[in-house]
Amino acid sequence: MKYEPKILRQDFPILQQQFKGNQLVYLDNAATTQKPKSVIDTLQQYYAEDNANIHRGVHYLSERATEKYEQARKKVQQFIGAKETQEIIFVRGTTEAINLVAQTFGKKNIKAGDEIILSTLEHHSNIVPWQILAEGVGANLRILPITDDGELQLEQLPKLINSKTRMLSIGHVSNALGTVNPVHEIIKMAHEHGVPVLLDGAQSIPHLKIDVQAIDCDFFAFSGHKLFGPTGIGVLYGKKSLLETMPPYQGGGDMIREVTFEKTTYNTLPYKFEAGTPNIAGTINSLDWNAVQHYEKELLDYATHALQEVPCLKIIGQAKEKVGVISFILKDIHPHDIGTILDQSGIAIRTGHHCTMPLMLRLGLPATARASFAFYNTREEVDKLVEGLNRVIKLFG
Ligand code: PMP
Repeated sequence: MKYEPKILRQDFPILQQQFKGNQLVYLDNAATTQKPKSVIDTLQQYYAEDNANIHRGVHYLSERATEKYEQARKKVQQFIGAKETQEIIFVRGTTEAINLVAQTFGKKNIKAGDEIILSTLEHHSNIVPWQILAEGVGANLRILPITDDGELQLEQLPKLINSKTRMLSIGHVSNALGTVNPVHEIIKMAHEHGVPVLLDGAQSIPHLKIDVQAIDCDFFAFSGHKLFGPTGIGVLYGKKSLLETMPPYQGGGDMIREVTFEKTTYNTLPYKFEAGTPNIAGTINSLDWNAVQHYEKELLDYATHALQEVPCLKIIGQAKEKVGVISFILKDIHPHDIGTILDQSGIAIRTGHHCTMPLMLRLGLPATARASFAFYNTREEVDKLVEGLNRVIKLFG
């Protein structure tokens, strides 16, 4: 069947809106994606018909909510190719997933003088949790550098890994530049030295087919809201053999087996890591994966060529392997001005440091403008972006 983004996008009510007399052009998908009607309807239906707390009640509604919640776990397991449902922990999002690993696995296994490897490309969510841990235990961060094109300098990795390395935590895809990192090679190298690897999958999950067993990562973190789902729900995948050795993250209901004032024993996986009432409604959604990669690649190529035609526009991040994220600067016009002027025509892009301040420092830029695409974006929208940018140039002389 032919891929028809114009038909697909009809499922997204928000994309039908006009802003200031213009059709919305939403190009901020790396920040959050829009939600199809099926997701919105499922949320509405859950609260209208199924709402109850899970794992606790013996009544019908509670049983039904529990069943749906656990079915969602099964779907996620299949979606990312995990071996078992016990390896799927529901969390609030990528940020919480990484903090969970840093505060449990990290605290248990990383001691004074040990080292954690990150890269220059990381989002703050994959820097600060490790920094907090490192400061607490006296460990050190080692940073894998990048090239001017925004690719990791893989050849530097063997020099960084040594007997003190306890963890390598790296983004699968850069939110700021769109670079797809060679995670197979990285993980192979790390495992040869017995170093576990966490992949920040926030930006890979909406664009690439993920198979955690084939990738062989030890942990994989992602957020529902970047995958056309609701905010406040995300997933930490972890290999069972590792999750079993980790202490709990937060204490509370559901994560316990027995509580006395003297001692508490903990629940089995995955509940040990799911304290308190979770975002039940957020999990219960269709996660059917459409084969959109080909279309997205085409759209990225089209947009890259179109933007390169805009006078004085410089694309930041020219990695050979990229997803639909294009960061750029335009003469000396401040990215915030670009964003504000485009907004007048209903074109939503993101401007700023994209929560990657160390990367901006490396690139020698305070900020970039960023257009990021999803499977519902079209060539016409790219054309509108180009027209908008030409208006910006005219305005600034
Ligand atoms: N990592 C990357 C690469 C991201 O792009 C983001 C979101 N911009 C995050 C982590 C954090 O995701 P969340 O805010 O959903 O926890």
